[in-house]
This record gives sequence, C-alpha cells and structure tokens, in this order.
Amino acid sequence: MKRIGVLTSGGDAPGMNAAVRAIVRKGIYHGLEVYGINQGYNGLIHGNIQKLEAGSVGDIIQRGGTILQSARSEEFKTPEGQQKGIEQLKKHGIEALVVIGGDGSYQGAKKLTEQGFNCIGVPGTIDNDIPGTDFTIGFDTALNTVLDAIDKIRDTASSHERTFIIEVMGRNAGDIALWSGLAGGAESIIVPEENFEMKDVVERLQQGTKRGKRHSIIIVAEGVMSGNQFAEELKKAGVTGDTRVSVLGHIQRGGSPTAFDRVLASRLGARAVELLLEGKGGRAVGIQNNQLVDHDILEILGQPHTIDKNMYRLSKELSI
Ligand code: ATP
Repeated sequence: MKRIGVLTSGGDAPGMNAAVRAIVRKGIYHGLEVYGINQGYNGLIHGNIQKLEAGSVGDIIQRGGTILQSARSEEFKTPEGQQKGIEQLKKHGIEALVVIGGDGSYQGAKKLTEQGFNCIGVPGTIDNDIPGTDFTIGFDTALNTVLDAIDKIRDTASSHERTFIIEVMGRNAGDIALWSGLAGGAESIIVPEENFEMKDVVERLQQGTKRGKRHSIIIVAEGVMSGNQFAEELKKAGVTGDTRVSVLGHIQRGGSPTAFDRVLASRLGARAVELLLEGKGGRAVGIQNNQLVDHDILEILGQPHTIDKNMYRLSKELSI
C-alpha cells in the first residue's frame, strides 16, 4: 500500500486536528503518501482532495474544529453517491481511508470497506456515544467547557439564591450531562438513558433549601427536553422560586483540545494507520481501560450506547 486518505465527518470535535496530524505523520513515517479529503463524504464525492505533507499538519494540534472541514452528505448514503466517492479514490490512487467521526460516519466507512476500500473508523464526537471505546475524541474538552460554565453560573446562583437549569448537548447520550453534573456538583442530572420523576427533582430542591443551600443546579441533556421546557415542568410541579435557564449551545463544540483529547487523538490516529499497514479494514479503533483496541465496525454500529449506572447513582448520593 502506497497511498491513504483521511477525512473528518459529522459534527466537528476538538482533537480532530490532532488525529489528522497523527494519521499524516504516522503514515509518512512509514513511507506512505497521505491525502486529505476536505468536507467529509461530500468532498469525497466531488474530488476535493489534496496531498498532505508533514508540514501541512503543523501548528494544528492545539486547534479546535477540523482543518479538513466537515459536512453532511445525503448523497453519500445512496449507492450512486458511494460509487462516485469510490471513483474519486481510484482516480487519486488512494487505497485505504481513515474516517474520523461519529456513528453516521462509521456507516459510510463500512460501505466503502464492503466495496473493497479498507476503512478504519476513529471515534471523533463530543457526545462520547460510540460503543467499543471508553472515550471519544472531543468529549473531554467539551466536558471541561461545560464545567467551566457550571462553575461560573454557580457563582451567580449562590449570590442570588437561584435555581439554574443548564441545558447541555446530548441528543441520545447523557455523558456530557452526567460527567459535568457530577464534576460540577449538580443537584439533579437529567439524561436520556434514565427515566426521572419530576417529584424527585422537586424533593431534592426542597431538601436543599431546608438545609440552607443558597443555590441549585440542574443539568438537562437536550435529548430529554429543552431547558425552557424543563423550567415550565418545574413550575407546573409547584416550584415557585427564582429559576433561570442557561442553554450552553455551540460553545460546547469548539475550543482548544485538552491534553487528554490531544493524547487520545494522537494514539487513536496512529493506531488506525497501523491497522491499515497490517492490511485491515472495517475496524473501529478505541481505548478501553487505557489500552488501544479495535473492533469490527459492524459490531460497533449494532450496539446501543449505555451510561455508567454506578456514576449516575453516585451523582445522586453526593447531591443530597
Ligand atoms: P455526530 O455524532 O457528531 O453527529 P456522525 O458521524 O454520526 O457525527 P452523521 O451526520 O450521522 O454524523 O453522519 C455523517 C455523514 O456520514 C453523513 O452526512 C453521511 O454522508 C455519512 N453517512 C451517514 N449514514 C450513512 C449510511 N447509512 N451510509 C453511508 N453514509 C452514511
């Protein structure tokens, strides 16, 4: 094998650049030529491809977003779209591909592997919702961004004796909510994976007020309901105090990746190239118990995301 490609797909995540850098440099170190495909599968279809040198990925390890840019492509979900992508790969002499993204992006990688182009999936999404890895690239950075916001909001919450509802990202996965809530000392954490009773939330608020707490923080993952909806529900359940809503939104996506994400991205990116050098495809790399692992991408796609139930329980025990 002489030539490999790399693309970033789906939502951007801090650390994607560190992964691109690792893939390019690891490839060049082993004598490969590495091509960057801009704008995900959309760029692949349209031949938006350029050769990357070791210097092309200089000064990016510390940057959020992705220098390769990302895009969604409905066309690539069709066999015709995939065929166009394959023609472009052939035209550029690219024999294998590393795809950095979430589960949707993995679907595309699986399709290409089935058609004879070995692809390796690298988990890049802030949601931490990819099975087969303890952490995805970008999650730690997003978590720390949310935590910083919680700490700041807490100052105002205690100064004014308010309850704050903080809406965080997570359509199907509650990891950002759970980890930030536990680290930020939230009273209640509402995640898509666990049912909740509004009366429990109210009881916790009342308990806190009784023992003289000056603030309350509730973290709601957007996939359960919006922060504003939650505030309405709380009101209906009889909470009359000064309640404010803060929707963190897209600030959770950007920013310079943490050391953890940079190291994770470097390790996973390099491992993906090693697998291609071993002639493997249709694998998804990950980290489990701090060991690099790889799984069949098909198995990964079939598994539901789960939350750490012990951590969820602990968050409740510590917020009495
Ligand atoms: P995030 O979790 O951050 O949203 P993602 O990778 O899951 O990331 P998606 O928008 O679901 O993001 O997928 C990214 C792209 O992958 C899609 O725009 C599409 O081009 C491709 N893709 C998704 N599903 C398929 C599929 N079934 N077959 C082929 N390609 C697909």
